[in-house]
Amino acid sequence: MAIVQVKDLRKTYPLGKVQVEAVKGVDFSIERGEFVSISGPSGSGKSTILNMIGLIDTPTSGSLIINDENIYGEADFTSLSKSQNKKVKIPSRLDKKMTSLRHEYLGFIFQSFNLIPVLNVYENIEFPLLFGMPKGTKKQMSEWIDYLIEKVGLTEWKHHKSNELSGGQRQRVAIARALVTKPHIVLADEPTANLDSKTGNQILELMKEVNKEIKTTFIFSTHDAKIVDMTNHRIKILDGLVVEDSKANA
Ligand code: ADP
Repeated sequence: MAIVQVKDLRKTYPLGKVQVEAVKGVDFSIERGEFVSISGPSGSGKSTILNMIGLIDTPTSGSLIINDENIYGEADFTSLSKSQNKKVKIPSRLDKKMTSLRHEYLGFIFQSFNLIPVLNVYENIEFPLLFGMPKGTKKQMSEWIDYLIEKVGLTEWKHHKSNELSGGQRQRVAIARALVTKPHIVLADEPTANLDSKTGNQILELMKEVNKEIKTTFIFSTHDAKIVDMTNHRIKILDGLVVEDSKANA
């Protein structure tokens, strides 16, 4: 069953007097549990697509369904229908409903890690839980955080501040932090861009392991063909359009 479905999704940015057509009408469908790459050269529209799926940017037109929820309908993409009958206006992209959907369904891994330097590894991973949603006792939550820390291989670094870590270690923290709310989907914009190729491969292996074990759907952008080879659903973008959409055993 599809967890993400996009249909004729478009994004145009006004830039002075011209309109930049960043995404020109893309269609694809992502199944639950897939390990998906969105690849293409710089400027082809990858980040824009990821940001729309991540509900941090709104499409100019088109439809987006996440987890059977029609986020933007074709006819009225300024509204969000939680159910068939209830339409909720989005006054701004920071609308509360969108925020809760983002929190519930989506985890993010950023290229620049976006960790909080004054917090240690444990606290950085715990951070998203401070905005609500933890289902369980304090003890269960701390066990879950410890499990994630172990999973990303940082148990010995648990009390270290993030600015004491290497790039690869920081990206490991970012992965654990993205997973802490138990999202259905993890989105990552060029997760290996700031890492050397060996560390980048290790990060990809780790994401793949989590994808297999916890069944989280991963969708990430990359311009690296070797990384595309590690994925099982490959969506290639060129100039704001899908030029290839294939599945493979990786
Ligand atoms: P990629 O992630 O593949 O590098 P992007 O999605 O970042 O590509 O960008 C696609 C196109 O949209 C580029 O031409 C970029 O310059 C343009 N673009 C992206 N964001 C904006 C913005 N906020 N305003 C104007 N143009 C933008």
